[in-house]
Amino acid sequence: MAGEEETETFAFQAEINQLLSLIINTFYSNKEIFLRELISNSSDALDKIRFEGLTDKSKLESQPELFIHLIPDKTNNTISIIDSGVGMTKADLVNNLGTIARSGTKAFMEALTAGADISMIGQFGVGFYSSYLVAEKVVVYTKHNDDDGYRWESQAGGSFTVTKDADADALGRGTKIVLHLKDDQMEYLEERRLKDLVKKHSEFISYPISLWTEKTTEKEVSDDEEEESKEGEEEEGKITEIKDEDEAKEKKKKTVKEVSHEWAIMNKQKPIWMRNPEEITKDEYAAFYKSLTNDWEEQLAVKHFAVEGQLEFKSVLFVPKRAPFDLFDGKKKANNMKLYVRRVFIMDNCEDIIPEYLSFVKGIVDSEDLPLNISREMLQQNKILKVIKKNIVKKCIEMFNEIAENKDDYTKFYEAFGKNLKLGIHEDTQNRAKLAELLRYNSSKSGEEMTSLKDYVTRMKEGQNDIYYITGENLNAVKASPFIEKLKKRGYEVLYMVDPIDEYAVQQLKEYDGKKLVCCTKEGLQLEQTEEEKASLEETKAKFENLCRTMKDVLGDRVEKVVVSDQLVDSPCILVTGEYGWSANMERIMKAQALRDNSMSAYMQSKKTMEINPDNAIIKSLHARAESDKGDKTVKDLVLLMYETAILTSGFSLDEPATFGSRIHRMIKLGLSIDDDDDEEGDDLADLPPLEEDVDEGSRMEEVD
Ligand code: ADP
Repeated sequence: MAGEEETETFAFQAEINQLLSLIINTFYSNKEIFLRELISNSSDALDKIRFEGLTDKSKLESQPELFIHLIPDKTNNTISIIDSGVGMTKADLVNNLGTIARSGTKAFMEALTAGADISMIGQFGVGFYSSYLVAEKVVVYTKHNDDDGYRWESQAGGSFTVTKDADADALGRGTKIVLHLKDDQMEYLEERRLKDLVKKHSEFISYPISLWTEKTTEKEVSDDEEEESKEGEEEEGKITEIKDEDEAKEKKKKTVKEVSHEWAIMNKQKPIWMRNPEEITKDEYAAFYKSLTNDWEEQLAVKHFAVEGQLEFKSVLFVPKRAPFDLFDGKKKANNMKLYVRRVFIMDNCEDIIPEYLSFVKGIVDSEDLPLNISREMLQQNKILKVIKKNIVKKCIEMFNEIAENKDDYTKFYEAFGKNLKLGIHEDTQNRAKLAELLRYNSSKSGEEMTSLKDYVTRMKEGQNDIYYITGENLNAVKASPFIEKLKKRGYEVLYMVDPIDEYAVQQLKEYDGKKLVCCTKEGLQLEQTEEEKASLEETKAKFENLCRTMKDVLGDRVEKVVVSDQLVDSPCILVTGEYGWSANMERIMKAQALRDNSMSAYMQSKKTMEINPDNAIIKSLHARAESDKGDKTVKDLVLLMYETAILTSGFSLDEPATFGSRIHRMIKLGLSIDDDDDEEGDDLADLPPLEEDVDEGSRMEEVD
């Protein structure tokens, strides 16, 4: 009958096709995960129809019972997974199972090449295709309330077919997936194996999963009864068989083996969050976590609690061991929190019970107070939800603190989710102080390990009022930065902040434990001085006043002013920025942002102050030259070069690296005693106008051409 219907053939989308070949051809022994993936899809489909049914009961009429059935069939070597979920329309079928690639398809293949395991497939949203680990052919029958029933069929190999199908209509509503097992995969027809698998991977699915089981009973029957039961053989699902050994012994009575079939429920029904935490083992939590998230590893931490009083809810929260591949992908919806109301699943990914910066936390919340027919729109204004959210954040922070009790665990956690905590510092004013306790940084004194702000404070020197930090592109850059020379020499600890998000977080944090956080690359870094030191600095300032003025004249608008520094030990000079403007690092980050709003830069890009080191030999010599000949041309040349070098060592980026390069090349020629006239080929550099003419840089670049 199905043959009369029109069959349409579709090509798999290219990446899906690639994925299928990978699944089929990769040697991989842990094939059993296919069942978990298909059951998880069924559970999602059931969630969807149950939710629709909350607002429109009639949607459930097509099949009032919500279930998952497994039927192994040893005659045809198939296993069927049937659910009474939402089903798929014809369009869903074509799109979801073959023609539309998800971002996860490619990401999963990349992960596989990088050594990931096929069992991770569920996390990438392409779990259905794991059917081909065990099946040579897959047939999907599906019926959605809004469409006729259809059959999808494919043996991989590039294409699949879709046909209108009466057997699919017979489902009422839902999906039946029939796997035609490969010759070497017959183990999945065994009851024992299937039971174990469901227990292992799908125990916490919140719909009953029933297995079609065979039951054999031995029964003594008299000869007469035997006749009767032989007639009964015709009945479906009942086969009897005579045991012949008994036949000889007893003429009158015979033992017959009676085979019958029945549904056996395989998963526990009581949700884990309703149970007493003290009675739940770590393995049980892990199994629940895995079924909730599709993660292949167990969780790093779990928090199971109940809130009682004016408002009641129960919750289990998990922190994964690693960040997902798309943690900061703005487009994707984090599938992090499931919301239940009095044990009824309401929705996945409930954004209103957890702030975005905690989107890596997975879990469930089961509220006693919310109405069952709540919609996403209503959720946003719901007061109960606001209170739930507040509590969840509090519990998350408690859980992070518990992780911090174990150093190794915390290192892992911080590597994966440190950025989220910093985002929290930026966004969550109420919990900022608590989150600050969780921050860790490398520092000039922390060695390989990272330090907390609390530990930093215990190491502060007597008389030290501020917490010093430096921001930059990477650890090596900040460790060698001229800005921290003096601080280090004097024994002050400096925190290294090398994550772009540190800039944003620290601007909001401002202080810790009453101590100001002071940026070393900005103005206003004041180390306490003795009277002597103060006097001697004043003296030096006076002595170098002329040089400062000359340098400012040469540099023009490039710098706000030139002053004598007491921050430097080795370097000749640095460029500091205003206390309230962007730091050098921030300027670099902002320049790198493709979508930044240029209007901000105008006033945030801070004025730079050049600070010179009076003890440095170059500065001393420059000073001597400037004193003896006010118009010394090399002074000009050198000052510009030093400015550009300071741009780099201070962590800014050069606007015109070519000009800087030319200047350096001229210095090299000088060093090698190459006269420009000797340069026979007359390369570009020789054509450079001398710096002394002080042409503006734009026109110089043109002349180089
Ligand atoms: P994921 O389930 O992670 O989205 P899959 O590749 O496993 O990815 O499934 C693709 C899509 O096919 C699902 O998102 C769902 O829309 C649909 N689908 C799969 N199995 C079922 C099912 N049993 N019932 C209804 N829809 C299903």
